[in-house]
Amino acid sequence: VEGFVVVRPYWVPQDVDTEVPSIARAYDFVLGGAHNFAVDRELGARIEATMPGLRSGAHANRAFLGRAVRHMVDAGVRQFLDIGSGIPAVSAVHEVAQAVAPDARVVYVDRDPIAVAHSELILADNDRTGVVHADMRDVDGIFGSPAARRLLRRDEPIGLLMLLMLHWVPDEWDPHGLMRRYRDHLPAGSHLAITHITGDRDERGVAETARVLTRSKSPDQLTERGHADVLRMFGDFELVPPGLVDCPEWRPSYPVEVGGRPAEHIMFYAGVGRKTR
Ligand code: SAM
Repeated sequence: VEGFVVVRPYWVPQDVDTEVPSIARAYDFVLGGAHNFAVDRELGARIEATMPGLRSGAHANRAFLGRAVRHMVDAGVRQFLDIGSGIPAVSAVHEVAQAVAPDARVVYVDRDPIAVAHSELILADNDRTGVVHADMRDVDGIFGSPAARRLLRRDEPIGLLMLLMLHWVPDEWDPHGLMRRYRDHLPAGSHLAITHITGDRDERGVAETARVLTRSKSPDQLTERGHADVLRMFGDFELVPPGLVDCPEWRPSYPVEVGGRPAEHIMFYAGVGRKTR
């Protein structure tokens, strides 16, 4: 616009094209964050139009993150690996874990440059956290990264989190094979938490969401999965009760009303598994 100078915010890395939407920033917008651009808000709004209740679903996912991390801390886990961690939002893993166990250590991993840059900024003063810029497919690179080698002890249980991340991994990438490699890296007593979008309850809405993403310039494309397929991601890990369930139903801190629940509460599966041997 004539007379205006468009200033790039200081937290935007030079190589980021602010005309291409990213799922990390669209999700930040849905959660009410400020690290997003017009293209991301447009994508977020389009997705929300196809999945009414997306906002409360996203907040339910963050609330699950808190309950799952506290469960793992109670089980003795003191080190965490959060893959597809996103742009830091309220109740990040280190906040939840270190509030209960100040010695807890957390490695954050994301492929989105803004998620990584912003995590580095927020975590600069916390030496029990580290950030890795990587694609989740680089399993050995992630476990061998300087942050993981500094913070994760290979003979102690690890809490691995993959929240709202695996549905960005298409079947062509062999997500089950990748998950096997992650599970093989973990010592006994480790835990794995997953949340995953499903079309089991709203097939049409989720299919329309996938089409919105295909039509957008976003590099992130959606693959919804059914209950059995998400369950397979845990391999031979033992699911802790209540198993793989609708996100708000996983050990709610308040009673969940069953029957007559709004549709927005049934879009993501959530579960925690434990490696027993
Ligand atoms: N885990 C956070 C949560 O549940 O609140 C953020 C979820 S956000 C919807 C998905 C994140 O996964 C984004 O930040 C995106 O960049 C990241 N992501 C998607 N595909 C990825 C991949 N192949 N490797 C690493 N990160 C990925």
